[in-house]
Amino acid sequence: ANHAAGGTYNKFANGVGRVPVGIGSKRKRIVVTGGAGFVGSHLVDKLVARGDDVIVIDNFFTGRKENVVHLFGNPRFELIRHDVVEPILLEVDQIYHLACPASPVHYKYNPVKTIISSHCTNVMGTLNMLGLAKRIGARFLLTSTSEVYGDPLEHPQKETYWGHVNPIGVRSCYDEGKRTAETLAMDYHRGAGVEVRIARIFNTYGPRMCLDDGRVVSNFVSQAIRKQPMTVYGDGKQTRSFQFVSDLVDGLVALMEGEHVGPFNLGNPGEFTMLELAEVVKETIDPSASIEFKPNTADDPHKRKPDISKAKDLLNWEPKISLRDGLPRMVDDFRNRILNEDEGKGN
Ligand code: NAD
Ligand code: UDP
Ligand code: UDP
Repeated sequence: ANHAAGGTYNKFANGVGRVPVGIGSKRKRIVVTGGAGFVGSHLVDKLVARGDDVIVIDNFFTGRKENVVHLFGNPRFELIRHDVVEPILLEVDQIYHLACPASPVHYKYNPVKTIISSHCTNVMGTLNMLGLAKRIGARFLLTSTSEVYGDPLEHPQKETYWGHVNPIGVRSCYDEGKRTAETLAMDYHRGAGVEVRIARIFNTYGPRMCLDDGRVVSNFVSQAIRKQPMTVYGDGKQTRSFQFVSDLVDGLVALMEGEHVGPFNLGNPGEFTMLELAEVVKETIDPSASIEFKPNTADDPHKRKPDISKAKDLLNWEPKISLRDGLPRMVDDFRNRILNEDEGKGN
């Protein structure tokens, strides 16, 4: 571990670790790192509604206060502006670790800076949260990604597949960072007995997604609302499987509360080409929407679809919302934010 950070920790640890917290009350104290982001803020809503005390740690790299502003003033909710790369002292029962600079736009635009920040967050951030979990005996859930499978040679992907990642490719800063985070989690589980849970999340969409982070669903939906052509990269025949955010949140909670370490694929097995996705967006938002082809990026996975039998069997979880049902549920949120942005520009 990092010695400076380790030193800081040793000052606090002092043998008082493993005091079980929350005894005598059913209410849990839960940390959500990255809780001001897209997935995190929906997770926080669910936990607060369930009656838990939730502390969000976020540095607002891609997250926004707007995502959690409706919880300000709620005594069960606390927001800490903090970079998980720095150590932190808290007493909680569970840690959902979502913090991650996850935007493809950033890593394609400035790969070296993104690698550094991505690796710092995935490695040092995960290490700190695992160190915290170890000290206080909290359960720790890592949100890993289907990107650990790279451009997969096995289809659909099972959790037993080790992946096909190009270590020198443009995407590797993200892929390899998450692979390292998984390794760290398993090392703390095996070596220090930390109760670990690992989710491998497949492409997820819904309200509060970043408008301009370059992901395909947010791009197509924003473009269709703005009356711009939807940008299809490559021939548009590559596939992805799109999961609505509330299904993912249910899966994350089932995983955290269950008895299995994982990893578990959490995704919707419905598989679509990008051309088919464009068609669904067109039907949902604007029948006159058009598409425009653009060159694809290097190492773009050709297909991706989760095998979710393990999560079905062991977590009793499966997604409920199809793409056609889910897309309309994000459109109002996108329209409102695009309208606000446009008004902002006019001022
Ligand atoms: P997001 O960008 O909306 O959320 C990430 C949050 O982490 C943001 O609020 C950001 O400000 C925060 N953050 C980043 N670096 C931080 C740091 N150093 N310290 C504190 N906070 C930091 O992304 P999301 O889509 O909500 O993703 C959440 C998690 O799920 C990520 O770990 C991501 O890798 C994983 N995931 C998401 C998808 C998807 O399709 N959305 C797919 C696979 C995996
Ligand atoms: N850590 C933290 N909060 C804690 C306990 C640990 O942020 O309550 C950090 C600590 O600073 C260290 C990391 O977690 O950088 C790993 O801690 P661990 O005790 O596993 O390793 P060590 O400090 O012994 O190297
Ligand atoms: N993509 C696209 N148009 C866009 C953005 C992305 O056709 O405007 C394609 C991209 O090439 C990839 C797929 O959509 O094949 C999913 O891309 P995204 O960045 O959303 O997710 P990931 O590649 O991480 O699965």
